[in-house]
Amino acid sequence: MVEHARREYPLECCGLLSGSDWNIDGIRATGNQRQSREEFFVPVEELFAFFRGLRRSGKEHLGIYHSHPTSRSRPSSRDVAQFHYPDVSYWIVSLKEAEPDVRCFCWDQEDFRKVDFEVYGPLPQDRSFTKNGLKSVK
Ligand SMILES: [Zn+2]
Repeated sequence: MVEHARREYPLECCGLLSGSDWNIDGIRATGNQRQSREEFFVPVEELFAFFRGLRRSGKEHLGIYHSHPTSRSRPSSRDVAQFHYPDVSYWIVSLKEAEPDVRCFCWDQEDFRKVDFEVYGPLPQDRSFTKNGLKSVK
């Protein structure tokens, strides 16, 4: 996610996460149809392709992520207004500071609630990519 966010900087990036039992082990970087610094929209064709892949692999859709190139990793009012997937985790990668900040949220009634997560599995050498590894949410 961090790598993707850096690649698209200064535009917002977005993508979809999959796995099973709240263990996220799949990431699909998608395009951002908005090509914007302040909002994102996963192209419908890419969304369909993602769900086709899930049906083949038997995995679940567990998360959606996007970046905040110049603001903090908390949901913007636009994120709150446009959130359409209350059953999945919602990840934000902030590149505001030198060190990327990755946070995870879940939709709770009418607002986002921050959720703790653990990173497990082999970690890349570069510490700044620690949070780009496999993730477990709960
Ligand atoms: Zn946002």
